[in-house]
Amino acid sequence: MDEMKKALFYQQKNGYDLMDAAERLALEDYCRGYMRYLDAARTEREAVKEAVKLAEAAGFVSAENLDGPIQPGQKVYWSNRGKALLLAVGGKKPMSAGFVVEAAHVDAPRLDLKQLPLFEDSELGYFRTHYYGGIKKYQWTAIPLEIHGVVSLKDGTTQEVVIGREPDDPQFVITDLLPHLAADQMQKTLAKGIEGEKLCILAGSVPYAGEGSDRVKLAIMSLLNDRYGITEADLISAELEAVPAFQVRELGLDRSLIGGYGQDDRVCAYAELAAVLETEEPERTAVCILADKEEIGSMGVSGMQSRAFERFIEKLCGGTCSVQEAFSHSFCVSADVTAALDPMYPEVSEKQNASRINYGVAFCKYTGSRGKSGASDASAELVGYLRRLCDEGGVTWQMCELGKVDQGGGGTVALYMADRDIDTIDAGVPVLSMHAPFETTSKFDCYMTYKCMKAAYNAKD
Ligand code: MN
Ligand code: MN
Repeated sequence: MDEMKKALFYQQKNGYDLMDAAERLALEDYCRGYMRYLDAARTEREAVKEAVKLAEAAGFVSAENLDGPIQPGQKVYWSNRGKALLLAVGGKKPMSAGFVVEAAHVDAPRLDLKQLPLFEDSELGYFRTHYYGGIKKYQWTAIPLEIHGVVSLKDGTTQEVVIGREPDDPQFVITDLLPHLAADQMQKTLAKGIEGEKLCILAGSVPYAGEGSDRVKLAIMSLLNDRYGITEADLISAELEAVPAFQVRELGLDRSLIGGYGQDDRVCAYAELAAVLETEEPERTAVCILADKEEIGSMGVSGMQSRAFERFIEKLCGGTCSVQEAFSHSFCVSADVTAALDPMYPEVSEKQNASRINYGVAFCKYTGSRGKSGASDASAELVGYLRRLCDEGGVTWQMCELGKVDQGGGGTVALYMADRDIDTIDAGVPVLSMHAPFETTSKFDCYMTYKCMKAAYNAKD
C-alpha cells in the first residue's frame, strides 16, 4: 500500500530535507545579498535607486540609448520617474515571439506625511500622516520610525530627505496610551483602537527662544531649514514617508528566517532582479518589472496599469512588431508574496491549500476574494508549464490559496498583466505578519523564489 501511495499521492517535503550542503551555501549567499538590498531600500524610490546601482554594475545601460529592436544579449533598464523600474535582456528570438516578464512591486505600506504636516499641541511638535496601503494601525505606534523622501523646490530642484537612518541620527515615534489609562481604548476593536488621524508623529519638544505661539513648531521648521534649506510651503510639494526603523535581521536560533520591513514585495522584487542580472542570452527576451502603487490598486503613472509599460515594450520591439503582438505570445510571473500558514492562527487558512514556511516558492492559480472575485485565475496549462519549469530547474515549489474561502482575500498586479493578453500566474514568497512594520520570511523560500524566477527567464521554449 505504501508503494501505491508513493506512486499516486502528491507528497510535499520540507525544503531542508531536500537540500545538500552546496545548495545551503548558495542559499546563505543569496540571502545576504537580499538582506543588504532590503536594508538599503526603505521606499519605492530607494528600491529603484539600489536596483539601478546593481543593474549598472551588471552592465545594463539606459534604454534611452536603444536604437531599433533589442538585440540578443543586450541589457537595458528604464526608470519610470524614479519610482518604478523596467529592465530587459534581449532574447535569441525576436519580440514577435513574445517575452518572459516578471512583475513585482516595490511600494510597501507606510505612513505618508500630509502636505501640511507640521503642528504643535501642548508644546509638542507633530507631523500629521495619511497611511498608505493596508495597515493594522495599532502596529505603527510605539515603534521607532525614520522619514525618507523628497522635497520638490520651486526652482525645480529636488531635495532628498533621510532622517533616522544613520546610527547617530534622531528617529521618530507615534505615542500610544499607557495601559493604566487605556480602559476605554481597550474596549474598542483592534480596527478602532487607534484612529487614522491619531497617527501623528512626535517631531520635537524644544520651543524657539522668545515669546509667542507655535514656538516648538517654529523650532522644528528651523531645524528642517538648517538641514535641507526648506520652508513649510516646500512641504506641500514633498513626498515624505515614515517607515519603520528596524534593521533587517536573521531570526530564530537557527538563523533560518529573515525579519524586516517591506518584504512585501521587495523580497520578490529582489528575486527577479537577481535573476535578470544573471541572465545572459535567454530564448525569449527577459523583462523585469519593479512596479509602484500596487498596495493602493496599481493606479497612477508608476503603477502597473500605466501605459509606461507599453512604451517600454514598444522600445524593445523597435518597430519589428506591434506591442499587442508581443504581448499575446508572452508569459508573465506576477511575483508577489502570499500569506504563509501561521500555526498561531490556523483558523484563517485551509491547511491543505495554504502555503507553508520552508516549502518553497508558492504558486497561486488565483487570488481575489469570495467567489474568486477580482482574480486573474491562471489556466491549468499555465500552472502545468510553471510546474514543469520549476521541476526541471530544481526549484522547490508549492501551490497555495491566500486564506480560507470567504475569509478575506487579496490581489496582485496579475490581473493588469492578464488584461493585456499576457498569460499570467502568481508566484512568490510566503510571509508571516504580512503588512506589519516587521515582516517574516524564510531564507529557503526566498532562495527558491529566486531560483523560480531564474528558471522562468531561462526557459528553453
Ligand atoms: Mn504584494
Ligand atoms: Mn501587500
